[in-house]
Amino acid sequence: MSGMANTETYYPGWQLLQIPGPSNVPPAVLHAIAKPTIDHRGLAFAAFARNLLEDLRPVFGTREDIIVFPSSGTGAWEAALVNTMSPGERVLMAETGHFSTLWFEMAERLGLGAELLHGDWRHAADPEAISKRLVRDTTQEIKAVCVVHNETSTGATSDIVAVRRAIDATGHPALLMVDTISSLGSVPYEHDRWGVDVTVSGSQKGLMLPPGLGFNVAGPKAWQAAATAKMPRAYFDWAAMATATASGQFPYTPATNLLFGLRTALDLLSLEGMDKVFRRHARHGRATRAAVTGWGLEVLCVEEDHQSNVLTAVVMPDGASADAFRSYMVERFNLPLGNGLAKLRDRVFRIGHLGDFNDLMLIATLGALQLGLEGFGIPVKASGLEAAMAILREP
Ligand SMILES: *Cc1c(COP(=O)(O)O)cnc(C)c1O
Repeated sequence: MSGMANTETYYPGWQLLQIPGPSNVPPAVLHAIAKPTIDHRGLAFAAFARNLLEDLRPVFGTREDIIVFPSSGTGAWEAALVNTMSPGERVLMAETGHFSTLWFEMAERLGLGAELLHGDWRHAADPEAISKRLVRDTTQEIKAVCVVHNETSTGATSDIVAVRRAIDATGHPALLMVDTISSLGSVPYEHDRWGVDVTVSGSQKGLMLPPGLGFNVAGPKAWQAAATAKMPRAYFDWAAMATATASGQFPYTPATNLLFGLRTALDLLSLEGMDKVFRRHARHGRATRAAVTGWGLEVLCVEEDHQSNVLTAVVMPDGASADAFRSYMVERFNLPLGNGLAKLRDRVFRIGHLGDFNDLMLIATLGALQLGLEGFGIPVKASGLEAAMAILREP
């Protein structure tokens, strides 16, 4: 959020970071991270860490222990798989977009029998398709069903409760693993109440931190699986982590200063109140979609009930390059937008509206987009911004 200098030019004023993660980091969090590093084996740190891990539970909606790794979200995926699976076991990934596909590819590389449940990247995970696949699995070879709660490459939010219900209705014992890397802290999530077995998350999206922390929460069934799982694991071993953190220690050096930042981020979230945080994201999601459709452009996710309140992926009109448009927006407004990933490359751009974000920043983002689309030569209706303002007019 500050004027950024590089060797070629200087952009005066604030830079808004409207990519869907890493999100804007509040200055209070940056200040907390800048505090002197302390002895992570000392008593003061142990008390701090125990307290922090306790206060993280409600954010995940759980009474279970929170496992924190010094890793990006991808590390937390790996941790979820290696702690619960044995070599060659089958995992079913609901294909919602690029991130679900990457998780599938990771499972393959780890030597698991990974299976992708086909999706077209314009829908949320389909509970019925998951249930049909499990019904066909009469020998119960599938050990886990993996779902990305908020698919950040497409802007589709899946209904985890419906997925849990669909799995339970089949009587199939597979674990349910959920990637909440971009949803946690932005849209409601309840590990315990929703019956999730393993939750995977990361620091740099709804939690408003820089990248660098990965999280796991394991329910009773997942801990049970971990006791007999045969995948090799060392750095990401849950048991070693849980044993150490019970006394506020870590098996290796934790990301001390990111944990300072996390403390402050949790304080900010609780000052605002989680309900308000979720309502804020919902309102910004609605306003952004109103602008996009008002401009006469298309939101990538076609299921209205599943359109994300974290980000909006916008389909570029035929023949126009989304990447050239994004470069134009950086040159013209110093406004980075998310790119299209994998098969969506150059076809969509993504507007992040998550984390430390307010009406003023959304108005600036959408105003710049309307001017930018015009300036770039995409014919848009000026009523797009009006439609967003109509939603923001309500307090
Ligand atoms: C960002 C993201 C990831 C990847 O996390 P890294 O921190 O880049 O490893 C995975 N899944 C989802 C849904 C994400 O949004």
